[in-house]
Amino acid sequence: HADIAMYRAKKLGRNNTQFYEPAMNEEARERLRIEGALRKALERREFVLHYQPQVDLQSGRVVGMEALLRWQHPELGMVAPHRFIGLAEETGLIVEIGAWVLQTACAQARSWMDQGHGQLRIAVNLSPRQFSEPQLPGSIAQVLQDTGLPPACLDIELTEGLFMHDVTQAVELLHRLKALGLALSIDDFGTGYSSFSYLRHFPIDVLKIDRSFVSDIKEDDEAAIVVSIIALAHNLKLRVIAEGVETESQVDYLRRNGCDEIQGYYFSPALPAADFEQLLKQGRHLRTMPLPA
Ligand code: C2E
Ligand code: MG
Ligand code: MG
Ligand code: MG
Repeated sequence: HADIAMYRAKKLGRNNTQFYEPAMNEEARERLRIEGALRKALERREFVLHYQPQVDLQSGRVVGMEALLRWQHPELGMVAPHRFIGLAEETGLIVEIGAWVLQTACAQARSWMDQGHGQLRIAVNLSPRQFSEPQLPGSIAQVLQDTGLPPACLDIELTEGLFMHDVTQAVELLHRLKALGLALSIDDFGTGYSSFSYLRHFPIDVLKIDRSFVSDIKEDDEAAIVVSIIALAHNLKLRVIAEGVETESQVDYLRRNGCDEIQGYYFSPALPAADFEQLLKQGRHLRTMPLPA
């Protein structure tokens, strides 16, 4: 039975046992294979970060980038995060992987700033599992110290799911992170557990409008949710970034409606570090159009 096979695979995986159940289905086998490979991926340096530019809509300039994890598997090729982040989360491997992401992203941002590209913000995704690690604020502080990245240049992205459980504990942790001087963003805003009360109580700096709402923006069409999130963010004195911006009409709409920044394929997908560096060197920026009077 497929469910039982999955369950057993999970248990086997947790214990890092190498036995395969004969009845185990293909999916469960795949999970085990990926889990074993994930454990080795860090040692083998198979993880890489790609960087997606975040562009200021007023100036049209690249003001930061989001670090997005990729797994360069010797046989599977470039593996996208949705295929392994969940498993890394379940097994706890995400803690170690996440530490590598943070260190690598901060060092990279620091290095680009040292090359004279001005102040850049680096956004790093943290998984819920990482937030349950008591040493998280300490290890972030250590990374900032080791890399010399100004804390204000680090933007930690969280998802709304984080606020579902122990709210008091979450508030306390977020305050400890804020005390380091970094920025906190809510990723995929509006898709998860959306309670307005956490926005008041949590020391948040940025809302990232989920791309499902951005894709609602079509020619000559009102996108009520997008407009509402922008207004909400600004009323709360938060910055707002639209994710998954793919078309010029979306850019125009977002600019007309006062969105602060965009991220999406319209400007650029996530790029390998060398390509991102090229983009910085070219000083590429978004063609800005005058706002209607
Ligand atoms: P996310 O943090 O919301 O990242 C945005 C995702 O949307 C990225 O997918 C990005 O490549 C994609 N994207 C950007 N612009 C566009 C666009 O214009 N159109 C469309 N269709 N997609 C766009 P990616 O890189 O596959 O990452 C997926 C998710 O995996 C991320 O969603 C994030 O939740 C997670 N993730 C990525 N890297 C990490 C990491 O280092 N740690 C953790 N915990 N999660 C990560
Ligand atoms: Mg993100
Ligand atoms: Mg997102
Ligand atoms: Mg996402």
